[in-house]
Amino acid sequence: MAAPNPDESLYQYDIVVIGAGIAGLMASNYLSKAGYKVAVLEKSRGVGGRMATRRLGEAVCDHGTQYFSVKGRAFGSVVLEARESGAVMPWCDMFPKAKTLEDPAVVPLDEVGHARWKGARGMTSLPKHLAQQFSESVKTGIRVNAVSIQGNSVHVSCENDEVFVARAALLTAPSPQIVEILTFGGLVPPVVDSVKWEVLSSVEYSSCFSLMLKLKQPSLLPDPGGLEFCSGPVAWISDNFQKGISPVPSLTIQATAEFSKVHFDTDPIRVQDELTKAVHRWIDGDISNAIDASSLQRWKYAFPISPIKAPMIALQNSPPVVCCGDSFGGGRVESAASSGLAAARWIHRFFE
Ligand SMILES: Cc1cc2nc3c(=O)[nH]c(=O)nc-3n(C[C@H](O)[C@H](O)[C@H](O)COP(=O)(O)OP(=O)(O)OC[C@H]3O[C@@H](n4cnc5c(N)ncnc54)[C@H](O)[C@@H]3O)c2cc1C
Repeated sequence: MAAPNPDESLYQYDIVVIGAGIAGLMASNYLSKAGYKVAVLEKSRGVGGRMATRRLGEAVCDHGTQYFSVKGRAFGSVVLEARESGAVMPWCDMFPKAKTLEDPAVVPLDEVGHARWKGARGMTSLPKHLAQQFSESVKTGIRVNAVSIQGNSVHVSCENDEVFVARAALLTAPSPQIVEILTFGGLVPPVVDSVKWEVLSSVEYSSCFSLMLKLKQPSLLPDPGGLEFCSGPVAWISDNFQKGISPVPSLTIQATAEFSKVHFDTDPIRVQDELTKAVHRWIDGDISNAIDASSLQRWKYAFPISPIKAPMIALQNSPPVVCCGDSFGGGRVESAASSGLAAARWIHRFFE
């Protein structure tokens, strides 16, 4: 169980977790179960971060994470429990891969398949399932501006002028955003270790356009409704209807890192047109009248290009300011989840 709070009048919370993506939710789940008083602050209206699902009229589209894999035991037991509750289920063992958009012949794959998981009602099903176990701690629509240290406490200052005072802070956003929050709070070298700071600051992210289309007819995408590409402007197409999360036909098209970088500031209408034309052969009918609705999402921080090998960084010990998320490990859902768990365990050991 949690070590007692030394001065309840000084601290509102034991730990403030910044970000309700999978890393923040795995950490908060662990710390809440260990008996700590946790506040999870999330700038968006809902939980999940890049495990994101959106409605487009009646269509439901996963527009961030498309599926996730499970290799380790700790994340495996969370996924198993979520499966028993009906929040997640396996999608398939492997997706076909096509050479290019012009030559859609499927390339033979030599890898052995393993379960690719999906959320039962979209990718947010897993984060929502985790968050409901400590829902009173989750505060959405609160953007954190700065984390600073005053004496033995951590002060988390928010855009709405609220300040949360805690014994520790856990930051889970992509590391360029963490660096910004710490800089605003004055937690830069020499106040914090310069080597750790450099490692944290070294992570760059690639961007990604994600286009959602609501179709009039089911798409022409082959079973199981997900297709990867080896090259070209599109990295991935999925069919949310075949996937079983959308009651009506809809596609999600994700651009490659290269296309997204080159066109990051291009007029969104042009980007949307180019991506739609690129996938025309999987749309039944003429694209000028086969699409009911569309929406383009621009992820600035999609995938870490050079993630940190360590599972987390304790930037500051007393009081603890700890950083985790998918900047650590590998830029996938499971690496983010494992990083969140590693950070929570570190904090627990520190307070024990
Ligand atoms: C388009 C796309 C496709 C992907 N596809 C896959 C896939 O198929 N399989 C896979 O395994 N992975 C995939 N990924 C990667 C995967 O989504 C991430 O690795 C994982 O979700 C990261 O989780 P996280 O908790 O570390 O970060 P996030 O999910 O980004 O969570 C961080 C949270 O912090 C919040 N936040 C940020 N700043 C603040 C602030 N100042 N104040 C308060 N809150 C803040 C954010 O709103 C966010 O909710 C994909 C990512 C993208 C973008």
